[in-house]
Amino acid sequence: MKGKYLFQKIMAWIERLNNYPGCDRKELSVRVQLWVGSAYALLHVVLLTIAFLIFAPEALKVLIRYGYFLLITMTTYLILTPRLRKNYKLVNAIHLTILSVGTLITILYLGGIATSGGLIVACLAFVLCSVPFQDSKITLLLFLIFTFIAIVSGLFSSYFSAPASLTPKINSILFMVNTLSMSGVSLFLILSFIAQQRKLESLESEKLKELNEAKNRLFTNITHEFRTPLTIIQGMNNLIKTNPEEWIGKGTVKIESQTRNLLALVNQMLDLSKLEAGAMPVHSFQSDIINYLKYLSDSFISMAQRKDIQLNFLPDNRHFVMDFDQEKIMYIVSNLLSNALKYTPCNGTVELYAGQMKKQNEFIIKVSDNGPGIPPEHLPFVFDRFFRVEEDQGTQEGGSGLGLALVKELVKLLGGSVRVISSMESGTTFIVSLPVTNNAPEKEIIPNEAVSPADFRSASFPADDQQSYSENENSNGDLPILLVVEDSHDLKLYLKALLEKQYQLEFASNGKTGLQKAFDHIPDIIVSDVMMPVLDGISMLDILKNDIRTSHIPVVMLTAKADVDSRLIGLDKGADDYLAKPFNENELLIRLRKLIELRRVLHERYAAGEQVIPDKDLPENLEDSFIQKIRSVMEENLGDDNFDVHQLSRTLGMSRSQLYRKFKSLTNKSVIDYFWTLRLYKAKNLLQTTALNVSEVAWAVGFKNLSHFSRAFKDQFGMNPSAVGK
Ligand code: ATP
Ligand code: MG
Repeated sequence: MKGKYLFQKIMAWIERLNNYPGCDRKELSVRVQLWVGSAYALLHVVLLTIAFLIFAPEALKVLIRYGYFLLITMTTYLILTPRLRKNYKLVNAIHLTILSVGTLITILYLGGIATSGGLIVACLAFVLCSVPFQDSKITLLLFLIFTFIAIVSGLFSSYFSAPASLTPKINSILFMVNTLSMSGVSLFLILSFIAQQRKLESLESEKLKELNEAKNRLFTNITHEFRTPLTIIQGMNNLIKTNPEEWIGKGTVKIESQTRNLLALVNQMLDLSKLEAGAMPVHSFQSDIINYLKYLSDSFISMAQRKDIQLNFLPDNRHFVMDFDQEKIMYIVSNLLSNALKYTPCNGTVELYAGQMKKQNEFIIKVSDNGPGIPPEHLPFVFDRFFRVEEDQGTQEGGSGLGLALVKELVKLLGGSVRVISSMESGTTFIVSLPVTNNAPEKEIIPNEAVSPADFRSASFPADDQQSYSENENSNGDLPILLVVEDSHDLKLYLKALLEKQYQLEFASNGKTGLQKAFDHIPDIIVSDVMMPVLDGISMLDILKNDIRTSHIPVVMLTAKADVDSRLIGLDKGADDYLAKPFNENELLIRLRKLIELRRVLHERYAAGEQVIPDKDLPENLEDSFIQKIRSVMEENLGDDNFDVHQLSRTLGMSRSQLYRKFKSLTNKSVIDYFWTLRLYKAKNLLQTTALNVSEVAWAVGFKNLSHFSRAFKDQFGMNPSAVGK
C-alpha cells in the first residue's frame, strides 16, 4: 500500500516537472515516458559503471569511459528537457543521435560487433526510444544510424582489435546484462505507448459522445425555434378557415410575421454554418463607414420610438474612410442594436459610438444601453449558440439566442474582435474592434435595399397591436378556469381564440408569473410551454405539483420539445399530459376536457361518506393527506356549530379563497357543506353503533335544534334518524 502511494507521488512529481502551461495531455504523456525511460537507463549506467570500477577498473577502461560519457549526456538531458517546450522533440532526437554516435565509437574501441558486450542492442533501444514521438522521420533517422553502426562495426571489425582484458566470458556476461536491460527499457516504452494509445482512443470516443450530445441539444433547440411559429401559422390558418370574417385580417398578418421570423431564423442558421465552413466570402469596399453607421442607426429609430427609447449615434469624426463589407457590418450592428433595444426597458437610452483608435489602427464600434445588464455568471456564454439569459430581468423578450453567435463569427471573419462589458447597475456595452485597412476598391455605399436592417428579426419586437393585448380574460364565471403559460404572444392569441368559449382564461408569459397566477386563482387546469424565459415550464411544474395549494391541478405541457427524454422529465415531474407543437386543435380540446372530467373520480374518492384509504403501492399523495388533515380537524370539531374556516385555512397555510377553490375542485363541495355532510354521516354512524338516542346524537354532532337535524338527515339519507336500525 505504502509502496503504491510512494510510486504515485513520484509519478505526480515527474508529471509536474515535465508539465508547462499549455502542454496538452498527449504531449505531457510522451515527455513523461521519455523522461522515466531515460532515468531508468541512467540508473542502469550508474550501477554498471560502479561495478566496472570496483571489479575491473583497468580491464574495462573503455567501458568505464563510455559510462562517464553516458552519465554526462543523460544527466544533461534529464535536467534540460523539463525546461524545454515546443523544441523538446528536436533536442530528444539530437540526444539519441549523440548517444548512438558515442556507442558506435565505443563498439569500435571494443573491437567490433562481436566483442561489443551487447552495446549494439543499446543502439537498437535508441531507435525504439523514438517511438513515443510518433514521428516517423525521427525513428527512420535513428534506424539509419543504427544500420550504419551495425554495418560499420560488423564489416570493419577486422580493422579493430578487442582489448585483451575483454575475455569471451566477460563479453558474454556484458552482452546478457545489456541485452536484458536495454530490452527492458524498450519494453517499457512500447507498453506505455500502447497504454497511451488506448487512453487516447477512449478520450476520443468520449469527445465524440460529447459532440453528439451537443448536436442533439442543437437539434432540440432548432426544432423548438421552428415548432412555435409553425403552430401559430397552422392555428391562424385554422381560425381563418372556420371564421374568415373575424380572422382574415389579423390572421394573415400573424402568418406573415411568423413566416418572416422563420425565414430570418433559417438565414441566420445558414449564415452561421457558412461562416463555420469558411464558405462566406468578404466583399469589402473603401467607403465612409461613419455615413453607413448613421444610416443603420437611423433605420432603428422607429423601433426605438416604439419603446420610447432614446437612440443616440455618437461618431468620433464626421467621416472615416476604410475598407468594410457593407452586409457584414449591417448584420453585426443590427444584431447589437436590436438586442440593446429589445432588452432595454421603455424610456431607456441606447448609444451607438464609432471611432478610430489611432494607436492600434483599429476602428471601434460600441453599442451600449442602460438596460438590466447581463448577470456576470452568464457573460462568458452570451456568444454561444442558442444561449439566452433565463433570469428575471424584467424582460420577457423572445429570441433564439443566435444573434450574438453570428456577430462573433462575422467579426472574426473580418479579422476583428468583439467583447462585452456588463453590469446590473449600468447596463451592457458591446465593443467591436475592426482592423483599419485602405486597400479595397473605392465605392460610394448605397444602402442595400434587399437586406434592410428593419427586417432584422423584427418579428421579435412587439408589434403595435400587442400593447392592446390584455392578459386577464375573465368572462363567464361558470366555466372552468384555464391558465395558459406561454411566452409567445401570437400563440397565446391563437389559444385564446381556440379556448375562450369553453374556459375562463388566464394568461402568463413565463413560469414565474405562471406560478403567481396559479396561486392567486387556483385554476382548474393549466396549459404550459416548456422553454420559457425567467422560469421554464418544468421548474414551474415541479413547484406546482409540490405545493399543497396547487398540487391537484392537472397540467398539460404544450411544447416544442417533443423528444422522449423531455417527455419523460415532464411526466416524471407530474405533468398530466404532454402535447407536441404543432398540435391538433381537437386533440388539445379533448385532452383538456378529459382531464377536467377525471376530477369526478376525485369527487367520489373524497366524498364525505367515504374513508380516504391511501394506496399502499403509491408514494404519499398530497391530495389524500390534504383531505385527511381537513377531515381530522373537522372530526375534532364535530360538535361545534360555528366551525371556523378561517382557523382551518391558517393551519393549512392557505388563504380562504385558495382553500375554497382547492377543496371544491377535489370534493365538488364547499368546506362548510362538506362539514355539514360529515356531521350527518357521523350521526348515522352513532345511531347505528351506539345506544344514544336521536336527540343525544343530534347534540353530539353539533345540532342544537332537533327538527333541524331530522330535516337535514332526511335530505341526506332519505329517511328519518329514528328509522335507522342498529
Ligand atoms: P436572436 O438575436 O437570435 O433573436 P437573442 O437576442 O435571445 O435571440 P442573442 O442576440 O444571441 O440572442 O443574445 C443572447 C442573450 O444575451 C440574450 O438572450 C440576452 O439574454 C442576452 N443579451 C444580449 N444583449 C443584451 C443586452 N443588450 N442587454 C441585456 N441582455 C442581453
Ligand atoms: Mg439578439
